[in-house]
Amino acid sequence: MSTGIVYLMYHEIQSPGRELIDDAPGYARYVVTIANFRAQLARLRAGNFLGLNVTDALAPDQETPVSRVVTTFDDGCETDLTVAAPLLREHNYNATFYVTTGHIGRRGYLTKSQLLELAALGFEIGCHSMSHRLLLDLPLDQLHIEIVVAKEQLEQLIGKRVAHFSCPGGRWNRRVAQVARDAGYESVATSRVSANHRTTDRFRLSRVAVMRDTSLSEFERYCRGEKLLKRQAQEAMLSVAKKALGNWGYQKFRSTMLGARGTPQG
Ligand SMILES: [Zn+2]
Repeated sequence: MSTGIVYLMYHEIQSPGRELIDDAPGYARYVVTIANFRAQLARLRAGNFLGLNVTDALAPDQETPVSRVVTTFDDGCETDLTVAAPLLREHNYNATFYVTTGHIGRRGYLTKSQLLELAALGFEIGCHSMSHRLLLDLPLDQLHIEIVVAKEQLEQLIGKRVAHFSCPGGRWNRRVAQVARDAGYESVATSRVSANHRTTDRFRLSRVAVMRDTSLSEFERYCRGEKLLKRQAQEAMLSVAKKALGNWGYQKFRSTMLGARGTPQG
C-alpha cells in the first residue's frame, strides 16, 4: 500500500524582533521559529522531497515515486509572505495559504496588498473561514457566511478562484463538508493526523501540525508518514487532558466561590 502524502500544517512563523499575534501558550505552541522552519525545509531538500500545494497534490497524475509533502499555512499571518514565502521559493516549493478573510489587514495578519503579492508569487490561496469561529454548531446561515461568502470575498480580492478550505481549529463534520462542496470547493482540510491517500475523502483531508517543539527527526518521520499513529494517540490523550483540566478548573472555581460565600459545609 502506498504511504500517501503528508500535508503539513503551519501557522505563524516567529522571527527575531517581531511580536507574535498572540503570546498565549496555547497559540505559541503552534508557532515555529524561523530557524526551525529553515532547518525543516533543508531537511526536506536533503531527503529529495517535493513541496506541493493542495491542487498539485490532488491532481490525478501523482504516481511518481518521488517523495512529496504538501505545505499548508492556516490563518493568513503576515509571516506567510514575509518569512515563509521567500524560504519556500529558495527551495522551489509551493504551498497553500489558507486565509481567514475577516482578519485581513489586522495587526500581524496579511494586508490586502500582501495577500495579492503572495498570490502573484504563484502560491495558492485557500480559505480559512470569515471569522475563525469553530463551525460545528453554527446555524446554517452563519455557516454560509463562514464558508461561502468568505470564498466569494477572497476570490474578488485576489481575482482567482479559491478551491480549497481549511476548518478553523481543524474542527470538521459532514455538514461543513457538504456546505463547502455545494459552494464549489474541491477540498476541505482538517487537523486529523494521517497521511492522505488516493482514496481519501477530499472533503476530509488530514494534516499534521508542525509545532514549536517538533524536533527535526520527528519532522522527518512525519513527512515520511511514519509515527503518525503515535502522534494520533498523543493528540487524543491531549484532548482528554484538556477536558480533565477544564473540569478541574471548574471544580476549583466552584469551591472558591462556595468558600467565599461562607458555605457551612465541611
Ligand atoms: Zn486557524
